Amino acid sequence: MVTRRSPTNGHDLPPQLQPRLTPAPVQKAGLDKRQAGHRARLALTPAQARLIDAQAHAARALWNLLHDWWTMLAKHQRTLAAADAAIRQARQEIDWLAVMPAQAAQAVLKTYFQAWKNCWQGRADPPTFKARFRAVMSVDIPQGRDLQITRVHRRWGMVNIPKVGRVRFRWTKDLPIGKKATDGNRITGARLVKDALGWHIAFRVQTLEAKPEPHPGPEVGIDVGVAVPLALSNGETYEHDEWTSSPDKPNAWLTKKEQATLLALERRAAHRKSFRKPGESTSNRLQTTYDQIRRLRARAKRRHQDWQHQTTTEIARTYGVIVVEDLTITNMVKSAKGTVENPGKNVAQKSGLNRSVNQEAWNRTVTMLTYKAARHGGTVYKVPAPGTSQRCSACGFTAPGSRESQAVFACKNAGCGWSGNADHNAARNILHLYRTGLVLVPAAGRAVVRRARRVKPATAR
Ligand SMILES: [Zn+2]
Repeated sequence: MVTRRSPTNGHDLPPQLQPRLTPAPVQKAGLDKRQAGHRARLALTPAQARLIDAQAHAARALWNLLHDWWTMLAKHQRTLAAADAAIRQARQEIDWLAVMPAQAAQAVLKTYFQAWKNCWQGRADPPTFKARFRAVMSVDIPQGRDLQITRVHRRWGMVNIPKVGRVRFRWTKDLPIGKKATDGNRITGARLVKDALGWHIAFRVQTLEAKPEPHPGPEVGIDVGVAVPLALSNGETYEHDEWTSSPDKPNAWLTKKEQATLLALERRAAHRKSFRKPGESTSNRLQTTYDQIRRLRARAKRRHQDWQHQTTTEIARTYGVIVVEDLTITNMVKSAKGTVENPGKNVAQKSGLNRSVNQEAWNRTVTMLTYKAARHGGTVYKVPAPGTSQRCSACGFTAPGSRESQAVFACKNAGCGWSGNADHNAARNILHLYRTGLVLVPAAGRAVVRRARRVKPATAR
């Protein structure tokens, strides 16, 4: 008789993948383990960049091989140990897989397995193949001690990248290295990530910190507007005056000159693309233009992120309860379109551009607020969005025409007649929804809601 070992008992797993049986190292009472990332730009020679590129391509290919292998096998044969054995063998037999350090290959397996766990627990879709040009290029360095970080200059540090060697990176923050590294503050690993601006290293910094006291600060509702970036229920606003959009400059985070360059590049790309026959691969010239476009957009995104970090830090420091809208993109496009009597301006640009930019940016704002508020002992709550822009925050009367324009709200209730800033009004409504107990999701770091799938339609009665 054959007894099958469950994949989780870990007897035949390699040591790196075995579940830890001994208790975790001293977890002092009242201290929280906190993981944070710190990203720094790497200064690479072209040869070093090529080496890391090759590693990243190998990592991506390994993921695809693994996915193929995993989805082909019968369920009972899919074990971590079998996967690990297959990877070891593949690394011995395939040259271009061996350019990647063994630790990085282990990390791919770990990430792949985690992707399935996320899927089984309802947090994500099942993992898929990674496409050559769409996938983010990355390589993991799971062991902190491999890094051997040193500071060599006020502005530069050196880090060891396996199979590449010593590499310089921009030193913008004091990292816990050498004598400064303690049990409660150390670097546990890193990940190399490539974006349009080149290779970066993201250090994983682990700290043990005292649990924060509950934040005594006031409650606040926040509305994200088209007229004002962030409007608070107490009348305050957060704006980025030096970076604003205008009809001829839809992207707020680029200068006029950069915007003109972007437009010219986009036209050039469209022109070049028009000569491409179906099935033909992208020409090097077109690829270059795409890269230039990506670089400009990445620059805009970094400026935006910088502003978001500063604002969310300030909000998380000041308020104990932060209430935000659970925004979906449909509301966003709707508000850009305006009403029949009062159509919005630049609808096409807004709905097209804002669709991606705003949704992504808003999600990022909420994510930042959530973890920063938790750090200061505060909480972020989400409330359902519909109606917050049409309800009068003074009397509760809801009428579709009350929002006269993007900026002005005037109550249509004869007995009330309140008028004021529309975004401010919406922020007060958001806070009101929280106070009346209409909380949708207490946003707690990770997504906690299990998505309902394949819901059966209710039977007709
Ligand atoms: Zn009113």
